[in-house]
Amino acid sequence: MSNFKNIAIIGGGPAGLRAAEVAASAGAAVTLYDAKRSVGRKFLVAGKSGLNLTNDADFDAFVSRYSGDSAFWRSCLAGFDATAMREWAAGLGVDTFVASGGKVFPVMKKAAPLLRRWVERLRGLGVRFAVNHRWTGIDAGLRVHFEAQPSAQHDAVILALGGASWPDTGSDGGWVPLLEKHGIRIAPLRSANCGWEVAWTDETRAAVQGLPLHNLRVRAGDTTTHGELMLTRYGIEGTCIYQLGRALRAMPAPALTIDFKPTFTVEKLVAKMESARRNFLAEARLRWKLPEPACTILAQFHGPFSDAETLARTVKECRIPLTQPRPIAEAISSAGGVCWSELDDALTLRKLPGVFCCGEMLDWEAPTGGFLLQGCFATGGWAARSACVD
Ligand SMILES: Cc1cc2nc3c(=O)[nH]c(=O)nc-3n(C[C@H](O)[C@H](O)[C@H](O)COP(=O)(O)OP(=O)(O)OC[C@H]3O[C@@H](n4cnc5c(N)ncnc54)[C@H](O)[C@@H]3O)c2cc1C
Repeated sequence: MSNFKNIAIIGGGPAGLRAAEVAASAGAAVTLYDAKRSVGRKFLVAGKSGLNLTNDADFDAFVSRYSGDSAFWRSCLAGFDATAMREWAAGLGVDTFVASGGKVFPVMKKAAPLLRRWVERLRGLGVRFAVNHRWTGIDAGLRVHFEAQPSAQHDAVILALGGASWPDTGSDGGWVPLLEKHGIRIAPLRSANCGWEVAWTDETRAAVQGLPLHNLRVRAGDTTTHGELMLTRYGIEGTCIYQLGRALRAMPAPALTIDFKPTFTVEKLVAKMESARRNFLAEARLRWKLPEPACTILAQFHGPFSDAETLARTVKECRIPLTQPRPIAEAISSAGGVCWSELDDALTLRKLPGVFCCGEMLDWEAPTGGFLLQGCFATGGWAARSACVD
């Protein structure tokens, strides 16, 4: 790698910080610009739920969680995999552990100490932090421009500007028109890993809001997942629906199909009804241990029920129409971003040679469970290595 490059990294989230670490370790002179007063704000927000750094899934299963170019992901994640992530945290004095679903967390379950030590390490590597620098554009000659700050000339520029969720943290998607101006195609930024709205009746809303549903099999189109859902005043949240986001967005009429009793067959459920001849939902609550909120939902969308078999079939396949995803500002991440066709394998923008992209601003998505941060770190390091040798 060249020791003489003067590299600008724009965006100080995990992707940009990792790019800075890799480039500075390779001997480049690195300036990291961010629009906010401090870096890593969304990383700190992620810390509020324990900072799920990565996932212990085996490598093939891991790679399958990413949308986009799977051959690229295979190489990129092989360059910085879950083991590398855990070693990286350990190198900053932060041990990790594996929780349910293979999720990997720092033992202290916080982001602030890790971020503090990371920034200290970067300063030690000579990275210059230029905060309060809102990037406003770039020339083909690699001159970068900022709002109310002098422009700067660099040998390579790595963009790590994030998606558009939680805009208060700095990732507001304001970069989209700045790249579109250069003819670069951007897939629209949309809510991913987010709740969806349901047209509850007032009675249903009052009865179900704030209640969880456990041990479900949940399907959207051809995609099925297992787990929990959380019922809210506006609709449905939770890991299961986050995992189905991509499938839901592809459906002309988005809907979840829930199996409330995945371990029972229709026949077994009907047999348990024995002599019941009426009040089937009330009987199901007792005989099938069907949770109260499930009964309320069944009643709103499919009731009333006049026989046990129809109810059993509906309990195994309850369709709930969804009206729309929650706004992107509330989502955990965003789908969409710089189209893969605009990038070469080095993550260089074909229309702006010398400019690289990484992190959530690329057109990919992955479910929660540690895959998002891993993708940001892996692409950040990848772009930095490319920028150093380019
Ligand atoms: C509530 C919540 C919880 C989460 N929990 C987890 C989790 O546990 N595990 C996980 O894997 N992921 C989690 N994520 C997702 C993860 O935090 C993001 O995927 C990740 O932060 C994206 O990293 P990034 O570096 O691409 O972008 P960001 O972290 O969004 O950083 C982008 C940076 O670019 C800067 N910027 C933007 N525009 C400009 C501009 N014009 N000029 C200069 N700077 C600019 C911003 O200020 C920001 O600092 C969570 C997200 C949220 C919202």
